[in-house]
Amino acid sequence: MAEPLIKKKESLYLRALKQWQKAADIIDLDYSVRTILSQPKNEIVIHFPVKMDSGEMRLYSGYRIQHNNILGPYKGGIRYHPQVDRDEVKALAAWMTFKCALVDIPFGGAKGGVTVNPAELTENELMRLTRRFTHALGSNIGPDYDIPAPDVGTNARTMVWMMDTFMNAQTAIQRNSQRHVVTGKTLTCGGSLGREKATGQGLVFVLRSWADENNVSLSDMKFAIQGFGNVGSNSALLLEKRGAKIVALQDENATLYNEQGIDCQALSKYVDEHRTIAGFPGAEVVNKSEFFALPVDAIIPAALENQINKDTAKQIKARVIIEAANGPTTEDADIILKDKGIVVIPDILANVGGVSVSFFEWVQNKTSAQWSLQEVDHKLGNKMRQAFHRTLEEAKAHNVDLRTAAYIVALKKIQTAYQERGIFP
Ligand code: GLU
Repeated sequence: MAEPLIKKKESLYLRALKQWQKAADIIDLDYSVRTILSQPKNEIVIHFPVKMDSGEMRLYSGYRIQHNNILGPYKGGIRYHPQVDRDEVKALAAWMTFKCALVDIPFGGAKGGVTVNPAELTENELMRLTRRFTHALGSNIGPDYDIPAPDVGTNARTMVWMMDTFMNAQTAIQRNSQRHVVTGKTLTCGGSLGREKATGQGLVFVLRSWADENNVSLSDMKFAIQGFGNVGSNSALLLEKRGAKIVALQDENATLYNEQGIDCQALSKYVDEHRTIAGFPGAEVVNKSEFFALPVDAIIPAALENQINKDTAKQIKARVIIEAANGPTTEDADIILKDKGIVVIPDILANVGGVSVSFFEWVQNKTSAQWSLQEVDHKLGNKMRQAFHRTLEEAKAHNVDLRTAAYIVALKKIQTAYQERGIFP
């Protein structure tokens, strides 16, 4: 039979659904909870115009998907990327529900995004896009209702524009108490110390717990990291500080390899200037397709979804994969990795440091406090270690992989909340 002309993309939401339903089967999750979680509560789709610097008007599509709020206000990032679509945002929103439940913070799950390549827009165009999108979201977001944060393609500056737009729409007496409508802000505008590096920092805390459990030392390990954005670069710098060697790095323009370890401090300065790792002199350039086959102990996918698929999974020689990105491993790759005895520290555990410090920022804003970096890191370390050990316990109790175990922890908590509260009316 001929190949269909348009190949249907695998649904990311379906993957998320299958992942948690596997855990739901194991613990025999209540039918009602299973049904509620199978669809998001609200799906907001907005098509909005933005005026470009040239005077031209362009129509953009934006999404905010609110998956679940049984444990607290909806929470999750806003992504600016050309691949953003409703299915992707739905999956990312569901993952936020499980992340917040797993790490035990009083938030539900949501995610947002705009289908746009931010690199093609000027600063002013990005500001107008952000403000118009925020305005269109209106009261669908709010400091005790739904709290956005940065994600791929957005940052502290984007969050400050969102905050300012939201605050300007409030009455004068309410305005100044609404800063926590978003997290991941700049320090001057109410951000938290340690939020910028939080996802990478959290990942390193989890990895340390795993290493302790397996009697390995991070300083003896060689890493390959895919992506050198916020999460990839912070993970690299923090691991380098602990004596680990980052021998391979990949971004959309280049794949670099240096058996002796790449100097990530120097690379980070290089990337600040050149916006890519391509052309960095301290490593050799290797073919893109060789990345996953390189001789390393650990791989950190810190870019987009679906990078570890049935083809790349077969090439992997590493002992452990730490999922910094959301959804980097496909379903068939998961099976291949399991057969090869490769441990996967799943996204909903590995990258939960970001939303954890977002919670700390939200608490600081609500109490007009400013915690020290030491305090933030200390609290984050505790959260990550607890989440890791809760996951490990379930993995042992049910003889399942860490991904399924992490969902078991999260689902049990969500189920308890539904049992205690009941279903309205
Ligand atoms: N976008 C990040 C994530 O996927 C952070 C979300 C947040 O801080 O709310 O976890």
